[in-house]
Amino acid sequence: MRKPIIAGNWKMYKTFEEAIQFVDAVQDKIPSNDKVDAVVCAPALYLPTLVQVASESELAIGAQTMHYENEGAFTGEVSPAQLASVEVDYVILGHSERREYYNETDEAINKKVAAALAHNIVPIICCGETLEEREAGTTEQKVAHQITAALAGFEAQEVEHMVIAYEPIWAIGTGKTATAEDANQVCGAIRAVIKELYNAETAAAVRIQYGGSVKPENIQELLSKEHIDGALVGGASLQPDSYLKLLEAA
Ligand code: PGA
Repeated sequence: MRKPIIAGNWKMYKTFEEAIQFVDAVQDKIPSNDKVDAVVCAPALYLPTLVQVASESELAIGAQTMHYENEGAFTGEVSPAQLASVEVDYVILGHSERREYYNETDEAINKKVAAALAHNIVPIICCGETLEEREAGTTEQKVAHQITAALAGFEAQEVEHMVIAYEPIWAIGTGKTATAEDANQVCGAIRAVIKELYNAETAAAVRIQYGGSVKPENIQELLSKEHIDGALVGGASLQPDSYLKLLEAA
């Protein structure tokens, strides 16, 4: 049985004070992590403080991106070694907004996955199709390509502990959710790719989230599907009440 994982992606929202207030408000109400892994991926600036504030709770803190080098002349970037030095547990990699606005390539994402593993940071690897690709019927090809590229060079035991997030780009921040059936079908296709690349045990172990306009009203149906093991949530993760409802559904 795969444990559900609900990750909030705060993107570029919240002031420092608001971020601390959020963690204070939710941390004593997080369900046991025997049941669900609860994560919030916050702006890099707030990570060390949030890790400290949440240290006694079951809430894990993640980053939203990182470089693949540990150090160097990369103005404005945050490195895997730096994230590890403040005890960050997760990092979102290859989010469609990073791919689109910051030219993040499959090759760079593959290097970032390696860097995350080297620092014991769990990567949440994003994939997903555009509306044009969905309409052209190439969704499964697109995500198969992205996942194959992201996983190039890893062993089965490493892949088992990774998290994959299937996020159709047309569903992000638009209020349009993929139907639970469609989301499950693509998550199942991703699992089939992992089986093909590795083996049945690895495919059965890896957790696959759905993301794209997930909210308390639709999460239950999504999570009831065979291949959907959690959610990566933007807008509905910003308010403590709504975030806690997402966790309760898991
Ligand atoms: P959304 O964002 O839940 O606001 O659609 C999801 C994401 O971008 O991870």
